[in-house]
Amino acid sequence: MHMVTLIPGDGIGPSIADVAVRVIEATGVKVQWERVEAGMVAIDRYKDPLPQEVIESIKRTRVALKGPLTTPVGSGFRSVNVALRKEFDLYSNVRPARSFDGVPSRYREVDLVIVRENTEEFYAGIEHFIDPSRSAAETIGVVTRSGSERIIRYAYEYARAHGRKKVTTVHKANILKYTGGLFLEVARAVGAEYPDITSNDRIIDNMAMQMVLDPHQFDVVVTTNLFGDILSDLASGLVGGLGLAPGANIGYNAAIFEAVHGSAPDIAGKNLANPSAIVLAGALLLRHLNEPDAAGRIERAVSRVLKEGKFVTRDINPGSPVGTAEMGEEIIRQLA
Ligand code: NAD
Repeated sequence: MHMVTLIPGDGIGPSIADVAVRVIEATGVKVQWERVEAGMVAIDRYKDPLPQEVIESIKRTRVALKGPLTTPVGSGFRSVNVALRKEFDLYSNVRPARSFDGVPSRYREVDLVIVRENTEEFYAGIEHFIDPSRSAAETIGVVTRSGSERIIRYAYEYARAHGRKKVTTVHKANILKYTGGLFLEVARAVGAEYPDITSNDRIIDNMAMQMVLDPHQFDVVVTTNLFGDILSDLASGLVGGLGLAPGANIGYNAAIFEAVHGSAPDIAGKNLANPSAIVLAGALLLRHLNEPDAAGRIERAVSRVLKEGKFVTRDINPGSPVGTAEMGEEIIRQLA
């Protein structure tokens, strides 16, 4: 029996998390869920977006499945997603993007993985207005040698473990000579230790263009926090949208699995959200729990549902009347 913390999230979160739980249970893997609330829902109940109960649960289980959590834009409470990553030092955010047959997209056979540094730089929360009249604001992005080394090493080890051939480091070292320069310097040193893997680097602006022009030239991509955030949404756009992109936040002592996408307030409560991203995150969770057979079955079931194209949500087939729950039921049927 695996103990797993479940944070359903808000917006579309509870409906898609519910599908992921049912799909995982349908594999036959025994999971005991510790269900806890964070974000908006927790503010209503506990007056705290990240109640101690959530922290305690993840400390106990060391693994969580999380629905998206809304973060107010511009003001309001700080991101609970970022707080959880900091709290458990989940330094590595692994976001695979691959093409599925049956999903309309600009390219076929894209298969790349963004490895995003998850704790440093502009997301560390070192920011303020410089004076009471709010005439200017600053956000300080700290990049450390040790933080760079562990994420870059993670990317190379991931490449080796998954039979991948190339690691591309993305940076802005031409302008950000210190933070970008340090990240690139470490990448070159670490890359030299992996002669079996091809290493190269790209400046972020060129990288964005190259990914749109020809994503097939990339395999594993490792980058700092902000660039990784942006490039992973870009990557999911290349393969048919956010509804299909899972993510894993990995640290030494805990891991949190989630979709790359957010709480999608524009479609929340309408039974329109595609549950695939969080279901695929559930497969990554099962691999982490050393249940590769169940993980593979889930991935193949999602692929089949997408390929058949009948029981898919509107983001995949604009005319489709199929909702979140129905697509989930079809994924479970295909598991068999
Ligand atoms: P979003 O990812 O929620 O939505 C972007 C677009 O993609 C929307 O049009 C939405 O309808 C669509 N979309 C997203 N998921 C979908 C799915 N499963 N099926 C079909 N369509 C889907 O991004 P946003 O609107 O910029 O952010 C909304 C909120 O989510 C913000 O508060 C943001 O901070 C938060 N957010 C949370 C996480 C997280 O929990 N890890 C990640 C990103 C954003």
